[in-house]
Amino acid sequence: TVCIMAQDQEGSIVAGTSTSGLFMKKAGRVGDSPISGSGLYADSEAGAAAATGLGEDIMKTCVSFQTVLFMQAGMTAQDAVDKAVSQATAQLVRHRGVAGDISVVCVDKDGNFGAATNTDEFSYVVMGEDMRPTVYLTDKH
Ligand code: ASP
Repeated sequence: TVCIMAQDQEGSIVAGTSTSGLFMKKAGRVGDSPISGSGLYADSEAGAAAATGLGEDIMKTCVSFQTVLFMQAGMTAQDAVDKAVSQATAQLVRHRGVAGDISVVCVDKDGNFGAATNTDEFSYVVMGEDMRPTVYLTDKH
């Protein structure tokens, strides 16, 4: 899945996703990527988040929406995404004994960004106003 979030000069924030879905998926499966709140969510007054990983688990936990809610409540982007991913992972483990891969990137309304994963590591790219890309790596913590 490719997730993109952007903010324009007036402060509007958007999020988009593109995915081939999961390997060997059933015909007709709709994953999390096009579903608002699951694979992506944007609110210009708070921020945006987008996810990649096991769509079924991302849908069960609405992890993109939860990340934005935490930013709306005043958490930093990094704290919000850390909490949303760890909460989703714990919830899945409690209910099913195991959690699928979930990685989430987010940006708040002031342009601060964060990322979290429950996998070994996850890389993402940030471009500022100068349009220079910087690659970041985050790992499970
Ligand atoms: N989340 C996507 C899906 O479940 C797959 C992915 O992120 O690679 O359809």
